[in-house]
Amino acid sequence: MIPFVDLKTIHQPLQKQFQQVMDHCLSESDFVTGPMVRQFEQDFANYCESKHCIGVSSGTAALFLALQALGIKEGDEVIVPAHTFIATAMAVSQCGATPIFVDVDEYSWNISWKNISEKINSKTKAIIVVHIYGNPVEIEKIVTAAHQQAIPVIEDAAQAHDALYQNKKIGSLADIACFSFYPSKNLGALGEGGAITTNNEELAQTVSQLRDYGRSDKYKHEKIGYNLRLQGMQAGFLSVKLKHLDQWNERRREVMEIYQKQLKDTSLQFQSISSDAVPVYHLGVIQTSNRAHITKTLQDHQIGFGVHYPIPCHQQPAYSETNHLSLPIAERLSKSVLSLPLFVGLEKQQIDTVCEVIKTCL
Ligand SMILES: *Cc1c(COP(=O)(O)O)cnc(C)c1O
Repeated sequence: MIPFVDLKTIHQPLQKQFQQVMDHCLSESDFVTGPMVRQFEQDFANYCESKHCIGVSSGTAALFLALQALGIKEGDEVIVPAHTFIATAMAVSQCGATPIFVDVDEYSWNISWKNISEKINSKTKAIIVVHIYGNPVEIEKIVTAAHQQAIPVIEDAAQAHDALYQNKKIGSLADIACFSFYPSKNLGALGEGGAITTNNEELAQTVSQLRDYGRSDKYKHEKIGYNLRLQGMQAGFLSVKLKHLDQWNERRREVMEIYQKQLKDTSLQFQSISSDAVPVYHLGVIQTSNRAHITKTLQDHQIGFGVHYPIPCHQQPAYSETNHLSLPIAERLSKSVLSLPLFVGLEKQQIDTVCEVIKTCL
């Protein structure tokens, strides 16, 4: 049996350090937005080469708070890719605004300025770009063009911790960036967590207040805020794991390289990566016109897999008002993408087995 993902291999060696975090939190009663959270915020800001980091309760909370800090409200439109995890769009809806779904590029599977620019109008108040599967979007081009029209850009970096674009870290390249620390992400908590990074002092301060009841002081509340805070223990676990992230992402790249090598010269397609980018392969995705047959065969061989995502956002029942839209690339991807096992502890022999089984289907 080969699992789709196995987190035990990275967590077991760190158990003692996790225990130390728990001991500290217990003995110091450091539970919510205390010293542990502040330490992690500093660690992660440094890591992302970003001036500010604000820990929050999830990736979705990060997106919601980023939009709130930018003043997104009812009647506003926010451009999002149709090919992403639904949270990108739902954060927009949670603000009362309308997500405007755009198609993605046929090769990079990412949002591009060409697709964005066609949907911009006077109601467009923000653009969310998603570095899908850890593959950086052409962020510089999008930010420059969007800023010419005074439209802010949010990075949904939930799948791209540590990815680089033009030698700069994802998370510092647009107005504000949102990370998820859901356990299976490249950097995951042992529960829920998220963060915002930004170089904009004012946005950082607004997000920091909004996550904590609009608080500017213990008993003083500047705005109507929320309770979307990061927990101390999760922050402590994240600081422990952050030290290993470079090495883990390196292993992800190695695994993907083996897949690419062994499955080249087949009908399968891989995501194309810009020569300006260093991806972090949150998922190991291939595209195939033969998905049903391959998944059945993988199942027969007890090999885990995933499909990210089988329904594009604009066709979700929750977005019935956009179900009629035609976004051909996103629709094609939803029918053809297949995520292969990819995790840090995956061994060469297991990768070989996956490839052999897949080749029997081609
Ligand atoms: C995981 C994910 C999110 C949401 O993060 P949570 O921590 O689960 O709320 C948002 N966007 C993308 C692209 C994701 O992969």
